[in-house]
Amino acid sequence: MASINNTDILKSIDYAKKNQLFEKLNNIYETLPKGQCTGCGSCCMESVGINLIEFLNIYNYLQDKDELRKKSLDRIMDYYFMEFIEKKSCPFKDENNRCEIYEVRPLNCRLFGHWKKEDYNKNLKDITEKNQQYKNIMKVKYGFDISDEVVNYKIKYCEDFIPEDRYLSKSERLNFADNVMVLDSRLFSKGIIDIEFRDRGIVEYFIDSLLNQNMSYNIKVRISKEKNISKRTIGRLKRMLIK
Ligand code: SF4
Ligand code: SF4
Repeated sequence: MASINNTDILKSIDYAKKNQLFEKLNNIYETLPKGQCTGCGSCCMESVGINLIEFLNIYNYLQDKDELRKKSLDRIMDYYFMEFIEKKSCPFKDENNRCEIYEVRPLNCRLFGHWKKEDYNKNLKDITEKNQQYKNIMKVKYGFDISDEVVNYKIKYCEDFIPEDRYLSKSERLNFADNVMVLDSRLFSKGIIDIEFRDRGIVEYFIDSLLNQNMSYNIKVRISKEKNISKRTIGRLKRMLIK
């Protein structure tokens, strides 16, 4: 496994700009139904799944915002390396529960309130079961327990969000996701970034831009096993990697 180096990210951003892929992404976002939200931020509690084009869009957005970029990377590293130990918010949620990358927030964040309750709760049940299975695998393979706080954390269905018209069916939601995936396939077919960087969360994409995947995962496992080294190790990595 590898990392996504900065040169390849910049080349991909360049390709996306020349081929209007960011405009196309924004057009997809524009077609999403609207709704009313209290902005409480309770749903911003995970490394939300994103597509490569969305990662590039966010990376590009942060390029001339040095302070926000460094602050976000700092939180991203805490989130990633402490992920098996404690539950943290999405690294882009600020102290006032606002999204710091609201303009370029990914599709899944934009669709959050639009789920039908029964679909949402079914998905939540599946996630909790998968988390439990993953906990068992990690115990057998590496000999540590992912904390129950992490395994059992649930982002509850939002009753406060009011869709402008109606809730979306699963196929309608997947249709939007497919449209974004088409943009990804343009990037992958260009061959600048390896296809293995698919299906990652927002945190994982940024970690991959800093460190080799194997190395970051091994460090995370070590931190999870020897909790007393966590702060020191993460602090050292931050000083090394956040420039
Ligand atoms: S969608 Fe719901 S939980 Fe999320 S910020 Fe809006 S009101 Fe809060
Ligand atoms: S990217 Fe923004 S909207 Fe999405 S989960 Fe994070 S803070 Fe919330």
